[in-house]
Amino acid sequence: MAVHMKGLIVCVCQGTCPSFHKMNVFEVINHFRRNKKVDFVVIHPQLCATDGDNFWRALLSGNRDVERVIVAGCDPVMQRKMFGWVFRELGFDESKFRGVEIRNMSTEEAIKAIEDALST
Ligand code: SF4
Repeated sequence: MAVHMKGLIVCVCQGTCPSFHKMNVFEVINHFRRNKKVDFVVIHPQLCATDGDNFWRALLSGNRDVERVIVAGCDPVMQRKMFGWVFRELGFDESKFRGVEIRNMSTEEAIKAIEDALST
């Protein structure tokens, strides 16, 4: 039986970038876990690095059960440029991907931005 899962990945520029210091990323992901808004969550240090490509391969290879994946991090246009080619390599339908900018936001602002992305 196919399971259609929604996932939230928060990418934090290695955890050292000041753009993520106003928020508590653990509170952000726990909000979505507590409220059962997604089926899985991940905090990734650097999705645009080579091991980030491998992360996508591990998550999406042969996996047709992910119906939506939200990446909260940097600019969505940049994200699409950085991840689009690996989605194509994996045959993952890009329309299931949504990037959300959360840099320089507070915990509450980041939650709101992700909520908005989940509802579109
Ligand atoms: S994908 Fe974006 S948020 Fe993640 S490490 Fe790269 S630049 Fe930073």
